Amino acid sequence: MSWDGNVANSMAVRILIDSGYKPLYDIDKGITNEGVDMAGYLRGCIVCGAPLKEYPDARELTCELCGKTFSANMECENGHYVCDDCHRSGAVESVYDLVKDCTSTDPVEILNILMDQPETHANGPEHHQLVGCAMATAYANAGGNIDLEKTIAEIIKRGGQLPGGTCGLWGTCGAASSCGIFLSVVLSQTPLHGTHYSDVNRQVSRALNAIAEIGGPRCCKRNGYLSLMQSVAYTNAVTGSHMTLPEHITCHYSQNNKQCLHENCPFFPGSVRLAPAADVTQIGTPEVMFAE
Ligand SMILES: [Zn+2]
Ligand SMILES: [Zn+2]
Repeated sequence: MSWDGNVANSMAVRILIDSGYKPLYDIDKGITNEGVDMAGYLRGCIVCGAPLKEYPDARELTCELCGKTFSANMECENGHYVCDDCHRSGAVESVYDLVKDCTSTDPVEILNILMDQPETHANGPEHHQLVGCAMATAYANAGGNIDLEKTIAEIIKRGGQLPGGTCGLWGTCGAASSCGIFLSVVLSQTPLHGTHYSDVNRQVSRALNAIAEIGGPRCCKRNGYLSLMQSVAYTNAVTGSHMTLPEHITCHYSQNNKQCLHENCPFFPGSVRLAPAADVTQIGTPEVMFAE
């Protein structure tokens, strides 16, 4: 699936228009009413295209799409807030259909398929679900003995509990957490039982460390790729699976990300910066099981 780049095809914007909202752009011409480049809708507010502003302290904001009020940190300069559920619903609802016939053992290739959906925004909490789903699909294709449909449903459920912005607000990027969720689901790890308590936490810590090495500000694509690089190596070491990675990862989303690091990102076209090498030390430490 490829996207023509027209934000009017975004599921969230379609919902908005169907609900009677008068958009600030001409949906047929693909430009704003003032003739402004539609790329703003990709980089900023998905309602009006204006730049986003953020607050260090959370406040009550009402979602422009569903009308519900949430405690949140970000809205556009025109006062539009879109809640996490509205932001990600379109991108996660068809994941299984998109990947069920895929045979790739490379989660980067699979994640790109999921991120190429028009409903997947340049940045957003949908990545907290899509990254883990890409891992699960590659794992199944590499011989992992899982029920892929059930695994994807569980990853989407758990990843959906992670709000947007956890990279900067919690110090815990959701793309990294998504890889921990994936490993927890396939190894049946829980808080009270299971022998892979260390492994699921190390999976996330390896990814977070790589994300910290490169630095910010946000980029869900960059952090997704960094998480996959670490998690493929770590999961292969823990489970004996044979997932693969491409020789080079080149991002084709940078023009949609206002905060792109460009040549300081390892995945920017032509960049010579290297992503941190995968860390597969300290694998599989046995854990003491807690009795009920
Ligand atoms: Zn707006
Ligand atoms: Zn909403």
